[in-house]
Amino acid sequence: MRYKNITAMVADLNPDRPVVCLRPAELEAAAQKLVSLFPGDVLYAVKCNPLPGVLRALHRGGVRHFDTASLNEVELIRGMFGRGVTPYFNHPVKSRQAIKAAQEEHGLRHYVIDTEDELDKIEQVVGKDAIITVRLATAAGLALQHMSSKFGAPPAEGARLLRMASQRGYPVGIAFHVGSQCKDPEDYYRAIKLAAQVRDAAGVDIDILNVGGGFPAPYLGDDVPPIEEYVSTVIRAVEDFGFQGSRLQCEPGRALAVDGCSILTQVHLRKDRTLYINDGIFGTLPELVYLKLRVKLRSFRKGGAPVPGPLGDFTLYGPTCDPVDVMPGVWQLPEGIQEGDWVEIGQIGAYSTAITTSFNGFTTETIVDIDEPAFWNESEEPVRILATA
Ligand SMILES: *Cc1c(COP(=O)(O)O)cnc(C)c1O
Repeated sequence: MRYKNITAMVADLNPDRPVVCLRPAELEAAAQKLVSLFPGDVLYAVKCNPLPGVLRALHRGGVRHFDTASLNEVELIRGMFGRGVTPYFNHPVKSRQAIKAAQEEHGLRHYVIDTEDELDKIEQVVGKDAIITVRLATAAGLALQHMSSKFGAPPAEGARLLRMASQRGYPVGIAFHVGSQCKDPEDYYRAIKLAAQVRDAAGVDIDILNVGGGFPAPYLGDDVPPIEEYVSTVIRAVEDFGFQGSRLQCEPGRALAVDGCSILTQVHLRKDRTLYINDGIFGTLPELVYLKLRVKLRSFRKGGAPVPGPLGDFTLYGPTCDPVDVMPGVWQLPEGIQEGDWVEIGQIGAYSTAITTSFNGFTTETIVDIDEPAFWNESEEPVRILATA
């Protein structure tokens, strides 16, 4: 279903369950922008938001490479786009069956490793028809969510793996992930410097340099540099550290998906200054809790009248019986808000619908396309949408 704006959707559906409101035009524009800015391949990290509407819009925007961690993700991409796109197994841990099926049925050839065991596994399953990229652990920088605690080889081990893969006849690459919602472009500069040290220690030609994801979204209170600054920092590091001969790749999730959807929730009870809404940590809003993200809100009343009153502070509870199902901090909404009003939660395209559960029987199933632009990007501060810590 497709609507001009949220008001038209609410008038039509009168929804008492959360509605995922996709903004395909925003997704397409975000993809177009990064594809034209970045001097290499832009891989989309499918895990961030695998809704077909999201993937289609990013594809329309020019994305032809996809970071797929599981066989299901590979099948999703191949099923939607056929052979015109390239899937990558850029997760350092894969099952033998997934490796075999991805290669035999989908022609997948790109693999990331961070151990000798994974290299052996790939060699045993698919032989020599593979491109092996070694993932390095990077120092914890200014990312909200550090990823190198779980994945990535330390420098000496990274150099050993590169040498070993190269000696076994594979084209090799280097990858890293500086962490999600990375607030400092210099983290990429330092990581590329590390990649150069590892390359030089290994003494092998590097076919691919994959600078990972991590480009940040401009959440409320996160004063992050624009993506242009991240790309120019990567370009500067590539030149400073002599990676001009390598194929450059990035693989963002958040930066491409964040403006792609909002969630329309409904207030099911007001208890003084507490609102019980119908979505929460077990639905599409886990990152509001895990990463304490602050995002913009706006509210709607049935029939189209504005929710009355000046802004006041409210606590937002999710729908399940679990007491952890509460959004941290207080959120500003009109004082007159009451049962039956809707609250649209913006900037929630990344790591939202991808993670949702049906815990307690609460599900988020309705997905609509919305033509109007993302309200949270309007340059003038619109009324009644501010959330504060
Ligand atoms: C999750 C992930 C990404 C995307 O990270 P963002 O912070 O969303 O940009 C990229 N690459 C790998 C290997 C990932 O696991």
